Amino acid sequence: MKTLIELHGELVSGATTVEALVSQAKKTITEKDGEIHALLGLYSDALINAQIAHAKDMFARGTATALTGIPVVLKDNIVVRGEKATAASKILEEYVATYDATVVKKLKDAGAILLGRANMDEFAMGGSTENSAFGVTKNPHDATRVAGGSSGGSAASVAYGAVLIALGSDTGGSIRQPASFCGIVGLKPTYGTVSRYGLMAMGSSLDQIGPFANSVEDAEIVFNAIKGADDLDSTSVKNIPEQNHTLKKKIGVPWSFVRREGVDAEVLKNFEASIEKLKGAGYEIVDVSLEHLEKSLSVYYVVVFAEISSNLARYDGIRYGMSIKDESMIKGYLKTRTEGFGPEVRRRILLGTYVLSSGYYDAYYNKANLVREMLRQEFEKVFEEVDVVAMPTSPIPAFKIGEKAHDPLAMYLADIFTVPVNIVGVPAISIPSGKTAENLPLSLQLIAPHFGESTLFAIGKDFEKLY
Ligand code: GLN
Repeated sequence: MKTLIELHGELVSGATTVEALVSQAKKTITEKDGEIHALLGLYSDALINAQIAHAKDMFARGTATALTGIPVVLKDNIVVRGEKATAASKILEEYVATYDATVVKKLKDAGAILLGRANMDEFAMGGSTENSAFGVTKNPHDATRVAGGSSGGSAASVAYGAVLIALGSDTGGSIRQPASFCGIVGLKPTYGTVSRYGLMAMGSSLDQIGPFANSVEDAEIVFNAIKGADDLDSTSVKNIPEQNHTLKKKIGVPWSFVRREGVDAEVLKNFEASIEKLKGAGYEIVDVSLEHLEKSLSVYYVVVFAEISSNLARYDGIRYGMSIKDESMIKGYLKTRTEGFGPEVRRRILLGTYVLSSGYYDAYYNKANLVREMLRQEFEKVFEEVDVVAMPTSPIPAFKIGEKAHDPLAMYLADIFTVPVNIVGVPAISIPSGKTAENLPLSLQLIAPHFGESTLFAIGKDFEKLY
C-alpha cells in the first residue's frame, strides 16, 4: 500500500494522474463493494469532476498539497453541499445537504477528491454498523464478521483498498474500534480541535471528526489538514497550545483495568506483547491507577443518551427529511419519528429523555457529569508522569454479524476501552498490533493529554516500526 507522500511524489512526477487515481478507486469499489457494502453511494459526477479539475489546477500552479488528487470517503453524517447525507437513517434517506461541513471545505481547499458516502450505524449509534437502515458493512478480513462501528463503512473502504483516506466520527470509539477491527489506523483528535460544523450531532460534548488511514504518518497529514479554529463551531478551540516535544519515553498502563473479565485472551496476550515491544524500544512502562475508569461506561451511557435525546429532537418531519402527514401535526410528528428512526435510535431517545426528566436529572445526568470531571482530573494527574496511557482498543476482535445485534448491553460493554477518552476529551489513536490465530486484526490504543496529537504520532510511528 502506497503512502500519501509516495503517491504525491508520483502525481508531481507524472508517474500517475489524478484521473487514474479516481478511476482506480472507482474500479476497486465496483469490484469489491458489492460484497463488503462499505459505501452508500458515490458523490455526483459534477462534484467529482469539479474536484479533479481543481486538483489538476493546483498541480499546474505548484500549490498542490499531500492530499491534492487523493480520493477520500466520508462517513455519511458529514454534509457536502448539493449531495445526499443520510446518517444511514430512513428519516434522512432523501436529504440533500445545503452547505459544506468545515472539514469538507478544508479537504476541498486542499484539493482532495471527495468520492463517496460511507455506511455507518444509524446516527452513529452502535459499534458494528448493523444499525444502518441500509444494510450491514462486512469486515474485509472476514466477510462473516462486522467491520465495527459506528464508522464501519469508512474503515472498511480503507481496509479493502478503495481509498487511502476516510473520515469518520468518534463519540465513544466509532473511529478507533472499526479501525481496530479492520486492521488500519484511526485517530480521535482532542475535543475542539476539528470543527464539528456540518457533522450531524449525536453527543455534542463527545463528538469529534477524525481520519482513517493505513499509517500513522498518513493520519497525521489528514489531521493537520482538517484541524483548526472555526467560528461556526462554538466549542472549537481558538488557540491550540504549542506542543512540548520532549518525550519522557514513559507509558502508563492501567493494568488492573485492562486485565479484567470479558477481555478476550488473545487481545490480552497481544496487548502484553505490544507493551514488551515498547519496553524493548526504550520506553519505560509504569502501572497507573485511574480509579474512575470503572465508571466510564455508566457515565458515557447517561451523557450520550441525554445529548442524543436533545439533538435528535430536530428530526420532526417538518423542517427536512422524511415527513409523514397525518390528521394532526402531532400525529404526523409521532409517525415520522416512529417509522423514520430504527430501534436503537428510538431506545436511546427514550432513555435520554428519561435521564433528563425532572427528578432524575440530578440523580443521573448531573452525577454523571461529576464523575466525568473526576476522571478528567485523574487523567491530568497521570499525564504529569507519563507521555501516554496505553490500552487495547477493543476487548474483543471483530465479532460475527448478528452475534450481538439483539443484545444492546453486550454491545455497550464492548466500548469499555474507548469511551473514557471521549468523556475526558483527550486524543487517542488506534494502531494495528498483529492478528489473532484466526487472522483477525488487533490494535494498541495510545491516549495522550489534551492537544497531545504530536505525542501520539511520535510514539505511534515508533510502535509501527516494531511490526
Ligand atoms: N459504540 C458507541 C455507541 O454506540 C460509540 C458510538 C460512536 O462513537 N459514535 O455509542
